[in-house]
Amino acid sequence: MAERMLQFTHLPQKTPEKRQIGERKADFDEIYKRFDLLAAKQQASRCSQCGIPFCSVHCPVSNNIPDWLKLTAEGRLEEAYEVSSATNTFPEICGRICPQDRLCEGNCVIEKGFESVTIGAVERYITDTAFEKGWVKPITAARELPYSVGIVGAGPAGLAAAEALRSRGYKVTVYDRHDRVGGLLIYGIPGFKLEKSIVIRRAKWLSDGGITFELDAEIGSDPSFAELQEKHDAVLIATGVYKARELTGPGSGLPGILPALDYLITSNRKGLGDSVPDFDSGLLNAAGKKVVVVGGGDTAMDCVRTAVRQGAKSVTCMYRRDKANMPGSLREVSNAEDEGVKFEWLAAPEAFLGDNTVTGVRAIRMHLGLPDASGRASVDPIAGSAFTVEADLVIKALGFDPEDMPTLFGQKELAVTRWGTLKTDPRTFMTTLPGVFAAGDIVRGASLVVWAIRDGRDAAAAIDQYVQVNAGMAQAAE
Ligand code: FAD
Ligand code: SF4
Ligand code: SF4
Repeated sequence: MAERMLQFTHLPQKTPEKRQIGERKADFDEIYKRFDLLAAKQQASRCSQCGIPFCSVHCPVSNNIPDWLKLTAEGRLEEAYEVSSATNTFPEICGRICPQDRLCEGNCVIEKGFESVTIGAVERYITDTAFEKGWVKPITAARELPYSVGIVGAGPAGLAAAEALRSRGYKVTVYDRHDRVGGLLIYGIPGFKLEKSIVIRRAKWLSDGGITFELDAEIGSDPSFAELQEKHDAVLIATGVYKARELTGPGSGLPGILPALDYLITSNRKGLGDSVPDFDSGLLNAAGKKVVVVGGGDTAMDCVRTAVRQGAKSVTCMYRRDKANMPGSLREVSNAEDEGVKFEWLAAPEAFLGDNTVTGVRAIRMHLGLPDASGRASVDPIAGSAFTVEADLVIKALGFDPEDMPTLFGQKELAVTRWGTLKTDPRTFMTTLPGVFAAGDIVRGASLVVWAIRDGRDAAAAIDQYVQVNAGMAQAAE
């Protein structure tokens, strides 16, 4: 039966059920169960179909949320899928891992006093159902164009651009230094937030659609960036940001203090069935260890929850600001708390203890001061407040900066901002090298999957325009 809309007055908000804590801590499967049809229809029917839908305004890909909610409430799921997939290349992924509380759902304007529509869970339900029912069509090019585009980076920005360009008829080759497609979707984000089968399903869809993947290809060394420029009519750089910020202080170089991404990549590879010597040797494995993760973003949350699942003896997250001022999603913090992670808020490491390997972190309490130049509350140490937390594994999760791209690619004309991200024209996505475009984290700095998708789609449109104009000029000159 079709549900009527505006049901928020009597239907309470219902989020998808979470698996029991004991059960979910024992594996890397997603913790949220899926809505069934009735729940999806009912929750979608809570939408009040706002004239100005602030949910859509705050969705980076400008999803037509009220439209697909209404179609879902009416049971017209195939049409809901058509509308939802028109604006988002990977709706089932965003439905799982967007920080909805800061984006669409955080801006849902259901009358005061009523909780937001569970937009992300419905979005996920629609596309998961579409895959099961066979409604997800292969990528088909309207016509074949005699032009090719090379994309460096098989993360969400590169993949979204690849799909958009292939649909327009371009020959598309995506290069990645990893052996699998997905960027941080496959090797950064753990399975308990995004199961790997979801990413692998999309990789297959892209490759079945005629996109060529050249994996294990480190652009800059083999092949060189110049070779790519020679080979393609345009190149898109979508390499993300990977230079980990370092801990400082005495003992910060001790064995047992390791970068977050090495730890997460190892764990994800293990889950994918690879043989990973650094995991088997115990180096990048938290089993039986006292783990301290330093940082307060999504990466830190993923590390603490991975350590719990690997069977750590204790897991502590140390962050210099308080809970209200942390950059990570509050939903993930709350999941980590439920899973037994201890948080040391307002605490920063001063020194790392141990002789041959780390044995503890000496930390100092902080207090929040007035906002600094960035607008965030400044943090100052409280004299005489030092304390020690025992640790045999310390994970550095302080964020990421871009690598030195002009040097890496041997292109000194490739201009960067003062943060090291690539400088692009915001309208054309073109870097300072003609015919070379950039999108995703390498332009924005560490951001979100949904922004990478948006940028990839927009960059594809800009590349299309550039190639068509250049082709037109070449023809006119003949
Ligand atoms: P990436 O996903 O980083 O992909 C870049 C690709 O380029 C990689 O595959 C890399 O191997 C490749 N590459 C780099 N250099 C070269 C080279 N020289 N040659 C060939 N290939 C190269 N966002 C969310 O929205 N929700 C989350 O829950 C979330 N959790 C996160 C958890 C972690 C641990 C991390 C690190 C990030 C998380 N993010 C999350 C952020 C999100 O993953 C990124 O914003 C997004 O993946 C950026 O996409 P991208 O395509 O720009 O880069
Ligand atoms: Fe919300 Fe992200 Fe989906 Fe947009 S893409 S509707 S922000 S979950
Ligand atoms: Fe529906 Fe909320 Fe969006 Fe309004 S803001 S259209 S109620 S989902």
